[in-house]
Amino acid sequence: MKKITVAKGDGIGPEIMDATLRILFAAGAEIETEEIEIGEKVYTRGHTAGIEPGAWESLQRTRVFLKAPITTPQGGGYKSLNVTIRKTLGLYANVRPCISYHPFVTTKHPVMDVVIIRENEEDLYAGIEHRQTQEVTQCLKLITKPGTEKIIRFAFEYAKTYGRKKVTCFTKDNIMKLTDGLFHHTFDEISKEYPEIESEHWIVDIGAAKLADTPENFDVVVMPNLYGDILSDVAAQITGSVGLGGSANIGTGYAMFEAIHGSAPRRAGQDLANPSGLLLGAIQMMVYIGQPKVAEKVHNAWLKTLEDGIHTYDLYDEASSKQKVGTEGFADAVIERLGQKPTTLPVVSYASASQPKLSEYTPGKPEKKELVGVDIFLDWDEAGRNAEKLGGELSKHSAGPLSLQLITNRGVKVYPEGMEETFCTDHWRCRFSSKKMDQVTASRDVIDLMASLESAGFDIIKTENLYRFDGKLGFSLGQGQ
Ligand code: NAD
Repeated sequence: MKKITVAKGDGIGPEIMDATLRILFAAGAEIETEEIEIGEKVYTRGHTAGIEPGAWESLQRTRVFLKAPITTPQGGGYKSLNVTIRKTLGLYANVRPCISYHPFVTTKHPVMDVVIIRENEEDLYAGIEHRQTQEVTQCLKLITKPGTEKIIRFAFEYAKTYGRKKVTCFTKDNIMKLTDGLFHHTFDEISKEYPEIESEHWIVDIGAAKLADTPENFDVVVMPNLYGDILSDVAAQITGSVGLGGSANIGTGYAMFEAIHGSAPRRAGQDLANPSGLLLGAIQMMVYIGQPKVAEKVHNAWLKTLEDGIHTYDLYDEASSKQKVGTEGFADAVIERLGQKPTTLPVVSYASASQPKLSEYTPGKPEKKELVGVDIFLDWDEAGRNAEKLGGELSKHSAGPLSLQLITNRGVKVYPEGMEETFCTDHWRCRFSSKKMDQVTASRDVIDLMASLESAGFDIIKTENLYRFDGKLGFSLGQGQ
């Protein structure tokens, strides 16, 4: 008997969870559930994370979490519970299969069987945001070597385990050369270890367009967090309904299974919602906890139910459906079909299913890190916002090899030789280094420079050190530099 933690969540959550558990038990699942409360009620009791301390104990005990969607209250101060759980438990891989069930579910894409593997902990979801001036806010995008290596290896191991042929990577490394560049480069390197699996990379904008237009050309797709969040919803929706998407969040030692959709509050309490997303998440859970026979039985009965035209409102279509049912009726129909297999849709087999191997990150040999300059960010709002004037004043300050090389505003060079047309905010990035950025400097020089600027009345909002790693620049050049 495997203990699992269950949370019924908000909105349609309790209905789809009851339906899902009823199906699992009817199929002979050997699980014992421990229920925890999360979501709206917990938030409104004053826990800004949406979860109470006691709930973590259950998760630490069972290490497997079946979670219904929750409602995140609108307004400031509330932290996303999903992000908190994923990061606290180290659930770095989010697996979202998006499959068409043509001709039983109406879709513009009859041939579609894509698995989106989304990095789950990093990127803009690190949640590090600041307001720095009257006009400017920022969000830090963090892409790490360990995080990237783990998710890309996971994608290839997933493809290997499930006999998939191709892994595609989406990034925007033509713009974000360092962060997305690391993701793309790591993908290229790791793909060499899996010569039997085809690999390709697309810039995310055209990749997304192709995925939405010709999903049949994709197999496994791996991406950083934000792109994966957006595109897995797109991919699930174009199979016919976002209500069909299930998701697994996997880490070392812990896993969480859920639907990809939210709590759909407008549909709550009316016995309308499609429980399929959560059920498909639960099927992934049964494989994960080593009960593949139950997973297989439920999955095939579910496919047979779809084939028999028994559909909830979101899938119901006069032409292809036979019977419109509610959440409970749908669960009953799946239970009636336990032991049956689909006749047109491919039969699912988990007989030899194992879990993709999770790899540990081993740091490589550290590269030689040298400080060659500093970007000093100023809040400067003198009348006219004249970059030439700012440049003239800043040029009077120097320390060691550090002197002003350029100023950018929103990343565009405005000094020296800026263009009058460039719109400037009150947020200036001022780069100090040696002329060719080839002289090593010391933290002391940076501090002296800052002290000099501060005593001249400049408002320093932050600094970023400029490093070389084994001689290679570890920072982007200014646009126009
Ligand atoms: P949503 O996914 O809840 O609903 C969007 C629409 O999709 C619904 O109006 C409904 O028409 C349809 N839909 C979704 N699930 C369905 C199902 N099972 N059966 C039939 N139709 C379904 O998205 P939303 O309205 O943007 O968000 C509602 C709340 O859910 C918000 O508070 C949001 O923060 C939260 N949310 C939670 C999670 C999670 O807990 N994992 C994920 C996304 C959104």
